[in-house]
Amino acid sequence: MCTPTPHADHPDSHEERPFARGLGELRTGRRTAITAGAAGLLFSTLAGTQVARAAGGADTRRRAYVLVVDGCRPEEIDSGLTPNLHALRGGGLRFPRASSMPVMETIPNHVMMMTGQRPDRTGVPANAILDRELGAIRDMDRAGDIKVPTVIERLNRRGLRTGTVLSKEYLYGVFGERATHRWEPMPIVPVAGYAPDVFTMQATLAMLEEFDPHLVFVNLGDIDRFGHSDLTGTTLQLARRTALAATDALVGRFVEELKSSGRWEHSMLVVLADHSMDWSLPTQVVSLQAPLEADPLLAGNVVIADNGGADLVYWTGPSSRRAEAVRRIRAIAEETEGVLRAWDRRAEWLRLGPEAGDVVVFCRAGWRFSDPDPLTSNPIPGNHGHPATRAIPFFLAGGHPRVPRGKASSAHARTLDVAPTVASFFGLPSGAALYEGRARI
Ligand SMILES: [Zn+2]
Repeated sequence: MCTPTPHADHPDSHEERPFARGLGELRTGRRTAITAGAAGLLFSTLAGTQVARAAGGADTRRRAYVLVVDGCRPEEIDSGLTPNLHALRGGGLRFPRASSMPVMETIPNHVMMMTGQRPDRTGVPANAILDRELGAIRDMDRAGDIKVPTVIERLNRRGLRTGTVLSKEYLYGVFGERATHRWEPMPIVPVAGYAPDVFTMQATLAMLEEFDPHLVFVNLGDIDRFGHSDLTGTTLQLARRTALAATDALVGRFVEELKSSGRWEHSMLVVLADHSMDWSLPTQVVSLQAPLEADPLLAGNVVIADNGGADLVYWTGPSSRRAEAVRRIRAIAEETEGVLRAWDRRAEWLRLGPEAGDVVVFCRAGWRFSDPDPLTSNPIPGNHGHPATRAIPFFLAGGHPRVPRGKASSAHARTLDVAPTVASFFGLPSGAALYEGRARI
């Protein structure tokens, strides 16, 4: 789920939250901070960046901007509410078959975008996992959770400047200190865990003016946020429509800035969503904890990490009985109404790695998981993580001559294609030795 996690009684609440960890990095001098603009925006810069810049070949005028319109459904760009996104898509190279990858959640797909790898390599399969060492469910919001290099670090090593403007606290956390320049949203959103798009875009424009990074990675969270609260009632549908229009206007402002500052001709924009969105009524909630606990083998030996449209089930009993437990978990889950399919996590196509537990259960469209508690664990009607939320908008735009004009591709673009596309744009190696995703330019 994309909103502050429903496990509000966060088991690791005694630990520092990502923004607090970021302040620690400033205090210890690993990053230096400057304030830019009148709005009190705070940016931090990786210590030693000046040295790296002098050593590198940062004189290219090329700029790449990855804009993630969180939770946007592809058809919403045809709704008439998003004229700027619509024009950008029509003017560039669009991928109508594009998809998010399992688990179709925010953190794993943002990590796939920047690493170009699937979760069994990145180490980040879902928003929430059972941390077996900690003995608790937690968000994957630690910089150390990403086990492979990102394109951000590869650009840094070439002396190119990178920037992250991430509106969600857990994204800020998982990308950590990687970018040379980072927006520090603390003064604006001390506790919400989330910054409204108007601030995120203000920060993006201020970052352009102050540092002009070669790559900027931006998460716009409003559409997703209002998606989660949509109960399919008219008032809340209106909220989502308003968010779509407002976020689109901010994207328009960004394009205007690129054009008026002369950056457009040198720019490539990668615009995509991390996943789509599905809605469920309160009567269409799946809760697996009770049926699993009713099984004598499984009782007391299973833990569930609820990821909205996907339940990750962990066997915590003796490993000698794991195979039998997986069979029973799958059978019980698949007998439960609202469940689409329960997979052995080791199924080859999933590519999720051990962090995702032993059984991965997807719900049907129009349903959601609420575990362990059927009433309180996940009260959010809007969800993703299940196959119904795979389809995403994905297109390249911008004025750089390498960006095709007014074309559609039949290729199946995926979130993990972003990193090799950015690498290729800057002339860095982008092949299969470094990335599973494909360069789409
Ligand atoms: Zn998301």
